[in-house]
Amino acid sequence: MPALALPPLPQPPAEATIAALAAELEAAEGGLVLHRSLEERTRLSRDFHDYSPVLTPLLAGRIAQLAVSAATVEQVMAVAAACARHGVPLTLRGAGTGNYGQCVPLAGGVVLDLSGLNRVRRIDPSSGVLEAEAGCRLADLDGALAPQGRALRMAPSTWRSATLGGFIAGGSGGIGSVRWGFLRDPGNLLALEVVTVEPQPRLLRLAGAAAQALNHAYGTNGILTAVTVATAPAVDWQQVVVDFPDWWAALEVARSLPATAMELDDLTLLEAPLAAGLPWSQGCPPPAAGHHRLLLLAAPDALPLLPAWLAERGGTLRWQQPQGSSRGGTLRELTWNHTTLHWRGRHGGWTYLQLMLPVPERPLMEAVAERWGARVLWHLEGVRQGGVARLSALPVVQLGDAAALNELIAFCRDHGAGVADPHELTVEEGGSGLVDPEQVAAKAAHDPAGLLNPGKLRGWVGPA
Ligand code: FAD
Repeated sequence: MPALALPPLPQPPAEATIAALAAELEAAEGGLVLHRSLEERTRLSRDFHDYSPVLTPLLAGRIAQLAVSAATVEQVMAVAAACARHGVPLTLRGAGTGNYGQCVPLAGGVVLDLSGLNRVRRIDPSSGVLEAEAGCRLADLDGALAPQGRALRMAPSTWRSATLGGFIAGGSGGIGSVRWGFLRDPGNLLALEVVTVEPQPRLLRLAGAAAQALNHAYGTNGILTAVTVATAPAVDWQQVVVDFPDWWAALEVARSLPATAMELDDLTLLEAPLAAGLPWSQGCPPPAAGHHRLLLLAAPDALPLLPAWLAERGGTLRWQQPQGSSRGGTLRELTWNHTTLHWRGRHGGWTYLQLMLPVPERPLMEAVAERWGARVLWHLEGVRQGGVARLSALPVVQLGDAAALNELIAFCRDHGAGVADPHELTVEEGGSGLVDPEQVAAKAAHDPAGLLNPGKLRGWVGPA
């Protein structure tokens, strides 16, 4: 498999065009904030793609020619109109915590920071449905929902900083996915407010299938200004840490626990070396040498049964604490890609993969262990896919180049795993690998000149 190369891209606009655009935005009513310094433009053009040894060199030096912070829908429309009139690429940014270089501008132009759009518009008291502006931080939304006895259904482990719009456009699932599946599952995202990129931008309200076309499209086919999502009744989740001397016994528990009536918000299983290398919460003992570790967020009514149920299956409960009373880091921040973050903090040079494991999982794991040994360490996450409990994996891997990673990816695919490749740039390659005609049609309708995040939607071949 060849190493990754940048897709064909438009030429970055001339500096004179950017200067004219900036002058126009400065003159516009309403107080847009323009960032011109190299330092600010560099900061706002970055995300967490440095987890990937493939993307890091590819994206080096890709910096916006101008960065703009908006705080109102009207300001977003002014930026969209100006970019459309001047033919300037426009890349959207929430908090910049994406992992695929999703908000790194490949063809210069403008980066639009939407984190200032941070108002909660409505929480329906009977259904709990939430409508909020796209730049709201997920942690703040949980704070706004709590007095109504509600909570977000799912959140990435970056929920303290990530925005709602960035999660919808760039994320896929996370804590809560063991109950609610993925963002793409019908019923999680209900509606979007969208600004089009045209000389006279339109403000659209999209619901149902029309909204799904913008779900996980990396901001290539419309600017989200507000998002409506279903929420869940709040639960006082209990953090539970369980150790296992035997990996296969732990795997069996990870497979079977989500099929019980004990309610979970997260289930994470870590192979012993990985578990030994994480910063455990205050009071939580590190695992005994060679022991694998299961992390659970469990409902309080699961607790009377859980220790005995786990003990019968070879697990020992080592620590338990309500999530709400955590001091410092929570278990949440040891799960999903935070596991990778902490591991890389101590083991530079390691990277990771994202897999949906086949059923049964064991043959793939044994085959990988036989071929790669301790250069692949397993980190599993319980999820629901199409209503069925499954195990996804974010193994950390000590493979430093594209050829070695591609070999492992192909091996996992051959053994039945689904791969969402975090060493790829496009929406398609970072997901199922297939072009979604609805996403492309939405781009044609909302961004007819193809200015939004150029190079990230493989199915878009240019204006008709
Ligand atoms: P950004 O990174 O700013 O943007 C993401 C994408 O969305 C970009 O393509 C951007 O152009 C687009 N975008 C942003 N705002 C808008 C908008 N208003 N309209 C249209 N497009 C927009 N992801 C998960 O899904 N689950 C996880 O558990 C998870 N854990 C992570 C852990 C770590 C340590 C890290 C570094 C990343 C993790 N991620 C995870 C990835 C990322 O944090 C999430 O997807 C997060 O929700 C992105 O939000 P953001 O505001 O930072 O978006």
